[in-house]
Amino acid sequence: MPELPEVEITARLIGAAVAGTVVESTSAPGLNALRTFDPPIHALDGATLTGIRRRGKLFLIDASTDLTLVVHLMSAGRLQFYDKRASLKDRTSRLLLRLTDGRELRLREFGTQQRAWGKLLRRADVEGEETLAALGPEAWPDPPPVGELRAALAQSRPLYTLLRDQHVIAGIGRSWVDEILHEARISPFKRGLDLDDDETAVLRGAIIDRLSAAIDHYEQTLTLPLPDKLPLPLRVHRHNGEPCPRCATKLEAVFFEDYVMCYCPVCQTDGKVLKDRRLSRLLK
Ligand SMILES: [Zn+2]
Repeated sequence: MPELPEVEITARLIGAAVAGTVVESTSAPGLNALRTFDPPIHALDGATLTGIRRRGKLFLIDASTDLTLVVHLMSAGRLQFYDKRASLKDRTSRLLLRLTDGRELRLREFGTQQRAWGKLLRRADVEGEETLAALGPEAWPDPPPVGELRAALAQSRPLYTLLRDQHVIAGIGRSWVDEILHEARISPFKRGLDLDDDETAVLRGAIIDRLSAAIDHYEQTLTLPLPDKLPLPLRVHRHNGEPCPRCATKLEAVFFEDYVMCYCPVCQTDGKVLKDRRLSRLLK
């Protein structure tokens, strides 16, 4: 699932490429993808795109006509930009913005579920859009200062869950939470309310460092067209069974139905190995 670094680099690269282009026509072959009735998606026809912003894991595609197309990839969506138009046979197409220069901005979705969506809004209504309005503060580039972050995390839920809760802090998901907690040497099972100021400061620094490093890596390695699967520069997530990049202890994992949480028992949990299935349920 694309998280903050992946959405950020996509917004930067595609945003720069589409700025100044004119929309010729729009279509939504994946009917579930479109949550727009007023203004209708065709209100974009003839508009000049001015760029793409990111909020949390969402895209805000701005047009000159005071319209913004909000796009949420959910777990399997991708925003991509092509020199050619999609074949009608491309079953991954959900939303298409055909440009007058022959290129195409395309929301695609892989897998069988149709959950990715787009919503066209008047710019003045963007902030109040329900998903955007419910987002917590941005995890990057400037997460809340230590006091505010500690207050936001002062809940009985474990950090592994809290940091992925978009209402608490926006942008982090299953991949980068493992990297951040490992960097901070904090247990994913630690309850948010048990963090002190020093730990919160370390955690805040780890959030900035890991997300910045990922975005820098993408800046140096990616160009358009973006691949369907971005090569995530992960050191801990999905590296269970491999040596910890810091202390060489074997990385452990807790297995969930369709994903895995990874951590280093020496760096993060005082040597304790926790992969009990009851715990898995607790953490969901
Ligand atoms: Zn370690």
